[in-house]
Amino acid sequence: MKKALVLGGGGFIGGHLAKKLKNEGFWVRVVDIKNNHDFWNNDDICDEYICGDLRDPDLVSEVITSPDSNPFDEVYQLAADMGGAGYIFTGENDANVMHNSALINLNVVFEASKNNVKRIFYSSSACMYPEHNQMDSNNPNCEESSAYPAEPDSEYGWEKLFSERLFLAFNRNYNLDVRVARFHNIFGPMGTWTGGKEKAPAAMCRKVAECINGEIEVWGDGLQTRSFLYIDDCLEAMLRFMRQEDFMGPVNIGSEEMVTINQLAEMTISFTDKKIKINNLEGQKFIDKYGFPCPLGVRGRNSDNRLYKEKMGWEVSIPLVEGMRKTFKWI
Ligand code: NAD
Repeated sequence: MKKALVLGGGGFIGGHLAKKLKNEGFWVRVVDIKNNHDFWNNDDICDEYICGDLRDPDLVSEVITSPDSNPFDEVYQLAADMGGAGYIFTGENDANVMHNSALINLNVVFEASKNNVKRIFYSSSACMYPEHNQMDSNNPNCEESSAYPAEPDSEYGWEKLFSERLFLAFNRNYNLDVRVARFHNIFGPMGTWTGGKEKAPAAMCRKVAECINGEIEVWGDGLQTRSFLYIDDCLEAMLRFMRQEDFMGPVNIGSEEMVTINQLAEMTISFTDKKIKINNLEGQKFIDKYGFPCPLGVRGRNSDNRLYKEKMGWEVSIPLVEGMRKTFKWI
């Protein structure tokens, strides 16, 4: 029986991934600092759920080998201190984000290499792309080769860039078999939708679902652009990338269906029969109802999937509206 380790499997992408691997017949171990997955029973997503802190090197050394002491066939490193714009762009969490995620990655890559893990996947982020290429909402550049000279617009992005390089350096110096992908806004059911760490698609669904006064607040002028990838496509893209021999990345995993944030809001409103007006918070109104400035991030961002398509011969296909409808219903 093949064995997989999902670090951060108590989270959104990791939970979906662990469940899929288990359904494929893998023996699956999840490690997460949370006691339980937020929305699933632990037994539904894995064979063994270990609650532990991956910043602790002893814990990482313990969990990196399987119960029969053989190396895992597939290891997925998804654990990170992260959240949506309200978490990573305010500046208040910068030190924790960098310190926590860097420690996790330093421990994991070292122990994976020492224990001859067969292959390890690392989840980087589109947030590592330079701000100067994402000023034009209609024409952002997120081609993989545009990463340097580096200028991410958040410390979260800088940490991702550092850790990408860390995984690639362990490949060069110690032959660790790595796969590095840059996720672009993954969304779907079973993800954080409230509490400050939620991202735009989930926040939009929540605002529309809760709206009783005919108005929702949308950060900025609403003309900033993004693309969003539904979780099922993300998993398929990850596994295809992980299970081919020749290409270690970094490569984008995202959607090329770029929309403005107001279009995302209008799409969400269209799932209801409510009459809802969009109140864009900009200029004077840039302070939200709790008195905080609204963090915006780059002006435009879209996945560039040419490299993925060239190397994998496959492309993501689930339309945004389909994924958003499912997510809205769940929230
Ligand atoms: P998530 O926050 O739902 O999952 C991350 C998990 O890591 C959480 O369950 C958290 O408890 C766990 N974790 C954090 N610190 C830990 C620690 N010290 N020890 C053990 N576990 C710890 O996030 P997600 O959306 O599932 O993202 C997974 C990965 O993909 C992350 O690395 C994230 O940076 C990356 N990513 C995600 C997106 C996205 O749109 N969701 C986009 C780009 C990159």
